[in-house]
Amino acid sequence: MKLTIPLLRDRHSHPLLYAALMDSVDLNRPGETRASALERIRAGALGGGTGWTIATGWNSGRFALAKADFDDLPAVVVLSLSIHGLIVNDAGRALVRLHDKVVADHLDDQDWIERNLRRVLNLFARAGGSSGRLREFFEHLRTLGVHHAEEMLLVDEDEIRMFDEAGLADRTRFWAAPEAYDAASPANRERIHGIKLFTDGAIGVTTAALHERYRTADHRGMLLYSDEALTALIARYSPEKPMAIHAIGDAAIDQVVSAIEAARPGGVLHEIRIEHAQFISEGTARRAKALGLHLSMQPNFSEDSVMYADRLPAGYPERNNPFRMLIDRVGFVPGNDLYFGSDGMPHGAQPALQQSLFPDGKHEGQVLTLDEFVAGYCYPDMTHGSIDVETDAAGRVVSVVVNR
Ligand SMILES: [Zn+2]
Repeated sequence: MKLTIPLLRDRHSHPLLYAALMDSVDLNRPGETRASALERIRAGALGGGTGWTIATGWNSGRFALAKADFDDLPAVVVLSLSIHGLIVNDAGRALVRLHDKVVADHLDDQDWIERNLRRVLNLFARAGGSSGRLREFFEHLRTLGVHHAEEMLLVDEDEIRMFDEAGLADRTRFWAAPEAYDAASPANRERIHGIKLFTDGAIGVTTAALHERYRTADHRGMLLYSDEALTALIARYSPEKPMAIHAIGDAAIDQVVSAIEAARPGGVLHEIRIEHAQFISEGTARRAKALGLHLSMQPNFSEDSVMYADRLPAGYPERNNPFRMLIDRVGFVPGNDLYFGSDGMPHGAQPALQQSLFPDGKHEGQVLTLDEFVAGYCYPDMTHGSIDVETDAAGRVVSVVVNR
């Protein structure tokens, strides 16, 4: 089947961070092995140049890497696919220390990293980000079929200036952590679309908060707020701005929905989005729908069912990204209260379509129709451009051509 669809509007990205990381060694490639990853990182680190050699997209479910693999090299940083975990070698630690001594002191403390993720990521976004880099990055996104990409973690006010300088402010929307929002000037506060909170971590590093124990760890992940603290934050910010609340595990999603019920008993004023919502249960989805909440989800995370089958508890892989339950049984409508994005893992129309129409997870509940994909992921029309998509009888994506 051949069809032409509008360009994508990626509802969840980190443009300045990804712009800063554009020259990094990308380990999220088909067929990457431990040996090829080590070889490419070594070549990068020994190839001269100053500063860090950064590798991104490392999936610990595919192959192991450790600090000791890199300690004989100049500064190396390996970011996990979820960007919630990182490995920094000895030389890299010395360099991190120059930028942020506190981060340098906590590089082996995953609990601290989760609670201070913005500070950790900002270090790299600030070191490599610029308006020129942003321009290159958005040109690259355009070649992948993406016109608009929301900034889910504003680095600081300077990022707004960079977007203005690059002429790209109309191709993003700024979401800021409470402390970044509070610190901004009144004029920049106006420019900030909404407030972003994290309530748990990620599956790859076993910090997403589940109701059951991980197979590979003696815990259920972590909740970053007490119920009271989360309710207070929602009560504080939601009357003023839209909110986007990161929750991946079922325990985190349940906590978010309960906190919103407690903070906004009369219903929500501005949009409140749950970011990721991967393990949302049907009961909680019904409560979220009744509250008028929106879900911002990543079809490319359907693959987590396979990638992280080793660590997810029994019964969890098949409940990841339950699009059919949300749409068919609970009544979420793509484009109305269900939106799609990539979180940059990876960006682009091709992987998004592949994972939506024929997910590698191969759980029936994860499959979207092309109409649902277009409604939840694309511009309403072809004003900005179009993409030709060809699928085979089984629904596999045969080709994706982004029209200039
Ligand atoms: Zn994100």
